[in-house]
Amino acid sequence: MNKSVFIDKLGICLSLCCGIHCLSTTIFVAIGALELFDLAVNEKLEFAMSCGILLIGVAALLPQLIAQRTYGLMALFIGGFILVKTSENMTTLWTQLTLLSLGILAITGAHYFNIKSKRKHAEYIKAVKEAAGYRT
Ligand SMILES: [Zn+2]
Repeated sequence: MNKSVFIDKLGICLSLCCGIHCLSTTIFVAIGALELFDLAVNEKLEFAMSCGILLIGVAALLPQLIAQRTYGLMALFIGGFILVKTSENMTTLWTQLTLLSLGILAITGAHYFNIKSKRKHAEYIKAVKEAAGYRT
């Protein structure tokens, strides 16, 4: 139906991919599988994913923020992104894993609630149009 919902789904997929990728590199280090780590760690890929998450997040959340004042969702998204980035600089495994999971959860959560907000808004517009006598 809605093209604008697609970008949120894309954002969720991308943040999950980044989460799985970061998680696997962290675990490879923890278990001492350094050959696998060297294989998995890729600065360019990580950078591309981070940029993608940020761009898609802003592109998906900004229109809703302007239309519906969903400041909380934008804050949740940015907070999640900061958590993911912070997790990369943590030296202990458990802080790294905790920050990473919380960050990914916050990013996917922001997109999830953004989709809900878009659907609600679309229903509202439809109801207003119907009430006004438009055929949709
Ligand atoms: Zn990542």
